[in-house]
Amino acid sequence: MGELYLHNTLSRKKEEFVPLNPPNAGLYVCGPTVYGDPHLGHARSAITFDLLFRHLKFLGYRVRYVRNITDVGHLENDADSGEDKLLKKARLEQLEPMEVAKYYTDRYHDMMDALNVCRPSIEPNASGHIMEQIDMVRQILEAGFAYTVNGSVYFDVVKYNKQYHYGQLSGRVIEDLISASRDNLEGQDEKRNSVDFALWKKAQPEHIMRWKSPWSEGFPGWHLECSAMGRKYLGEKFDIHGGGMDLLFPHHESEIAQSQIANGDTPCKYWMHNNMITINGKKMGKSLGNSIMLRDFFSGTHELLEQAYSPMAIRFFILQAHYRSTLDFSNAALQAAEKGLSRLLKALDTLDTLKPSDVSSFDVNSLKKDCFAALNDDLNSPVAISVLFDGVHAINSVSEGKETLAKEDIELLKEFYSTVIFDILGLKKEEKGNTGLTDYLIKFVLDLRQKAKENKDFATSDKIRDELKNLGITVKDTKDGTVWEIS
Ligand code: ZN
Repeated sequence: MGELYLHNTLSRKKEEFVPLNPPNAGLYVCGPTVYGDPHLGHARSAITFDLLFRHLKFLGYRVRYVRNITDVGHLENDADSGEDKLLKKARLEQLEPMEVAKYYTDRYHDMMDALNVCRPSIEPNASGHIMEQIDMVRQILEAGFAYTVNGSVYFDVVKYNKQYHYGQLSGRVIEDLISASRDNLEGQDEKRNSVDFALWKKAQPEHIMRWKSPWSEGFPGWHLECSAMGRKYLGEKFDIHGGGMDLLFPHHESEIAQSQIANGDTPCKYWMHNNMITINGKKMGKSLGNSIMLRDFFSGTHELLEQAYSPMAIRFFILQAHYRSTLDFSNAALQAAEKGLSRLLKALDTLDTLKPSDVSSFDVNSLKKDCFAALNDDLNSPVAISVLFDGVHAINSVSEGKETLAKEDIELLKEFYSTVIFDILGLKKEEKGNTGLTDYLIKFVLDLRQKAKENKDFATSDKIRDELKNLGITVKDTKDGTVWEIS
């Protein structure tokens, strides 16, 4: 099926994929930080690397796919309080941090299952790999590229940069980074340089998640978990490391530095990054108030949404853009994806009803060749999908008697379509009567309930809620609107 070419963020060009240890292929992808519900951005990253995982398997590789769960040490703290986001959530909701992590890990799995994203081969938790992280801190300290201050350990980026290149992945220049952050470098900072990052942090008294270490009772820095767990499950050097473009700097840049010192080499051969999703042309973010959760898409209950969208419509929408391009969400774009998907799946049914002719009037093999060439060209799913639509056009023409297909070509087309659509693109036919229609009906009923509430007709609005409850549908009014769940 041809050679696979992938764009390597490190070399900034497309390179032929040659694994270190064929037919095995090692893939590490940064997973979610589990303190909140998954949004569209999570879906894009998961679907991008799901496509890679599926395509590698199709090409015959034995893939070990590791995707972590960040449940500790995420230093991207809340801007207002400086508190760890997961701990803040635990405090606000009066839960054990592990309860929060478990709850959102389950939510993440549910949503990704709905999107037909394959589960990884190994899904390690940062909190379950503290020993491995402590080992790595020790190695970096012994090599002389980290220093200890008040029980915390920091990576010495300036020293590292004299011998190696901090910025090789992101293209950032260390002098710029230092001068950009000089203004907020105040006396209380323990770091020698603003670009240094924490490998180990001493826990403050109120910090609940803490572990004993040679330096203090504390917790690991966020960048460390991926280096330590990648090494544990894929070895010191593995094939592909993936993640969202927002992780390029400082997360992945710092992973390279850690591995370079601890293992004597960069962690992987290929770095891959998916681009971001914008909402009506604007950056998506919780703080910008336009971040739409996946549950909102499935239920249609968000002010930016005109309707509910099925998980497969979302998957198809994401696959219709190349993973390295930005993808702009709009209702129109999602509705177009929904229509496109149903046209594609309908053609599969039509394919089953075609009457064979003696000869074919179009070349199935060249369609197939073009489609796989696109997938092998850095996972160019939009081009692959457009080739599939060329085929849909032909299938419909055969059905209308304007074109012909021989029996063996019909069989070839069936096999090719089912392989690409179901196995590689990971789309599936939605069960009849499920998701789409259910979502629509519940949204319709909830709209009626909302109207009743606005008219102060609480008898009706309560009756609707209770009736839904009898059907096993829990309705909750939150500050972001009404949400529902089938129990
Ligand atoms: Zn990571």
